Amino acid sequence: MPLYTVEGIVLRTREYGERDRLVTLVDREGTRRTVLAKGVRRPRSSLAAGVQPYTYSRFLLWKGRSLDGVSQVQVLDALTGLRGSLEALAAAAYVAELAEAFTQEGAPSPGVFPVVLQGLRGLAAAPGDGVAHALWLRHAELRLLDLAGLGPQLDACQDCGRPLAPPGGGPAAGRTVPGSAGARSATLPGGASGTGARREEAGTGMEAGRPAGYSAELGGALCQGCLPGRPAALPLDAATWQVLRQARRLTPELAVRLRPGAAVLARAADVVQTHLVYHLGRSFRSPGFLAILDEARSPGAPG
Ligand SMILES: [Zn+2]
Repeated sequence: MPLYTVEGIVLRTREYGERDRLVTLVDREGTRRTVLAKGVRRPRSSLAAGVQPYTYSRFLLWKGRSLDGVSQVQVLDALTGLRGSLEALAAAAYVAELAEAFTQEGAPSPGVFPVVLQGLRGLAAAPGDGVAHALWLRHAELRLLDLAGLGPQLDACQDCGRPLAPPGGGPAAGRTVPGSAGARSATLPGGASGTGARREEAGTGMEAGRPAGYSAELGGALCQGCLPGRPAALPLDAATWQVLRQARRLTPELAVRLRPGAAVLARAADVVQTHLVYHLGRSFRSPGFLAILDEARSPGAPG
């Protein structure tokens, strides 16, 4: 039986037959694969640890006629930080759900794997930090949308086209991310622009507008002048706009340092969730569960 090796992250598993599991993973090329882990539900199976959800493993796979299977597996990163916290596990489940939505079975989606691994590592590094969780979830959503060419446009008003800047700041005031992160983000394929072809450079000679709203239909931010003309738009105040821009370029250091308030984080989550549902035409199960956990943790907290 021909064998081959794949490194990947387990997104989910489901029971199959009496003793087996089907394992859905995303490999380093962003290819989603469903493989059979035979006998994994038997006590002391040597495969059990490596095929746990949200584990990063190296798989030795055998080629089957209709389904490939796991011959051996070696754990590369167990992401143990996720295991002791219900909130971290719920957030990881959402990252995995996103990863499935942005990949295809048997075909590569370049760039997805590092976003998923970085997101899960971010969650695992701060299992009890709800703020860091929220930032990593926004990061995963925004970067996966960007890779698919569907990311929300935040740098310019999507109605009148003028560049956006926070009140009191120049056009570059949004660039609060220090050197290394900004430089790295600039080299990522896709960058911050999704569909491209929009004129939002500082050299347009237009006076900067203040971010005030978000339009799902137009795919991004609106300035204060255009918001009244778009009754279906969501509010997107400067603080929330800034958090979304920072989340897009998130690093482990920033995730610890940024401390936006609960209301700002909730609005940021709303905007990206609205964007996802509008542009993907589907909703996700995990955010609802995360919201329930949030409420349980802080009853009566101001939204
Ligand atoms: Zn405008």
